[in-house]
Amino acid sequence: MSELVFFCGTMDCGKSTLALQIEHNRSARGLVGMIFTRNDRAGQGKLSSRLGLVTDAVEVEDGADLYAHLVDHLSQGRRADYVIADEAQFLAPEQIDQLARVVDDLDLDVYAFGITTDFRSKLFPGSQRLVELADRVEVLQVEALCWCGARATHNARTVGGVMVVEGAQVVVGDVTGSTDEIGYEVLCRRHHRRRMTAATARAAALAPDVLPVSSG
Ligand SMILES: [Zn+2]
Repeated sequence: MSELVFFCGTMDCGKSTLALQIEHNRSARGLVGMIFTRNDRAGQGKLSSRLGLVTDAVEVEDGADLYAHLVDHLSQGRRADYVIADEAQFLAPEQIDQLARVVDDLDLDVYAFGITTDFRSKLFPGSQRLVELADRVEVLQVEALCWCGARATHNARTVGGVMVVEGAQVVVGDVTGSTDEIGYEVLCRRHHRRRMTAATARAAALAPDVLPVSSG
């Protein structure tokens, strides 16, 4: 029985690394995957992990029909034994419905990988639809850590190291250290609620008199 599986977690929890591992294990058994991604850090049409591995993928455009893409691919006599969808939080809810149809009507396993919540700790629409439709939701156990050492459960967006809580849901960025660059950082809930990033915490440690008065 084919399955729609949603592997989820925060940023930096090893999702793309696991996606590449699943792809590697199946291709070593002679299976061929259809790999979808969207807005990967390595650029269009790539699935990459922070550990430096990368493979080619189909970049999902706005309005693309993933079910139709598979049907078209198979009807040309080409192979697809399973499907990987990385950065699935960026897919539209209807594209998640199409992936469920791939499982049910084409009898292919679909492994979706995504961040559950955005920088405001709200569910991404694509992730919400996956939680609603998946046969299985696996929360990845490769745990990302907050700067304080606690388990990081929340994604923060930063501008110049300072956490922001407003803005568009999807802005692709990376931590580069440049001053007003948009970056992302994983935090524990306590520090996400206090908007305390590594840079803010460092600054506060250097100037203890500006620490906000806070209990607990
Ligand atoms: Zn923390």
